[in-house]
Amino acid sequence: MKSVLTRVVCSTFLALLLVYTLPATSMATEPITTIATGGINGVYYSAGGAVAKMFNKKRHEFGGWMANQASKGSLENIDIVLAGDVDFGISQANFLYFASNGIGDFEGQQKTNLRAVLGLYVEDLTIIAAMDAEINNAKDLIGKRVNIGVVGSSDEQTSTVVLERSGVDPADVELFNYPVYEASERLQAGDIDAYVYTVGHPNLSVMEATDGDRKIHIVPFDQNFIDGLAASRPFLSADTIDTQYYDKLENKGPIPTVGIKSVLFTRAEMDEETVYRVVKQVIENLKLFRMQHPAFARLNRMKMSQDVIVPLHPGAARYFREAGIIQ
Ligand code: GLU
Repeated sequence: MKSVLTRVVCSTFLALLLVYTLPATSMATEPITTIATGGINGVYYSAGGAVAKMFNKKRHEFGGWMANQASKGSLENIDIVLAGDVDFGISQANFLYFASNGIGDFEGQQKTNLRAVLGLYVEDLTIIAAMDAEINNAKDLIGKRVNIGVVGSSDEQTSTVVLERSGVDPADVELFNYPVYEASERLQAGDIDAYVYTVGHPNLSVMEATDGDRKIHIVPFDQNFIDGLAASRPFLSADTIDTQYYDKLENKGPIPTVGIKSVLFTRAEMDEETVYRVVKQVIENLKLFRMQHPAFARLNRMKMSQDVIVPLHPGAARYFREAGIIQ
């Protein structure tokens, strides 16, 4: 049995340890503003972290701090932002468009109170595949084991469109619904032949997928697919995937695909001052913000205020106007 002295010394040591590891003002007692992002090896998670970092520079002045949180991506983010479970979210432009117009997954449930905060970087439709599966274009996915993301996720929705537009009946593909953050490991382990992911580049998912014995490439889309899809909506455009950061990827050089803008958004009811602070902190620290991820390198103030699909939140519009970025 431990002596009383040992117990006292132990508990004093533990108490001291707690005191020294907690910040002077305990963060837990300050209000937390949340941003819903995506899987932890995607780029939304980094984007949410970067926005939070800029906001938290003034954490003491604001009397509260911001944190990013992982999620299933765009569709879930739209739901939980509108439900008031989180404050901000990131979404692909197409899902904001469908939600605000009541089409696609939002047929009959138009969401009129989505508001834009900041336009972010361009994401790319990406098919990551094992060389041994001999998938040289989207049509070759027929008969292959393909991960399309969890049921009801934006990944699943986008993957289905990619298959159908490529003339592939999803029924002719062996589909898997692993979460996209797991797909990279599954591909390397030989559990699947390919996965579809709409994501910014570079990202940790492709890095993970390419780091192993199984040789991996990104499947290029053919020009007909790109032209057809890019022409179908104003927010879609032809783009190329920059492979310079992927040392272990089999393809070298730009890979043709379709790009889509990502947008930081909130709901109309969100407090104007909080939104204003988010936008001001990001724009006034833009040089630092761009350094948080290579996908942010080409962001500029003008692009971040435009083509955001839904109306700017009054807090965002106030900052952009004051800074002379919009009229
Ligand atoms: N585009 C994906 C989605 O909408 C997320 C990509 C990422 O997490 O970077 O769910």
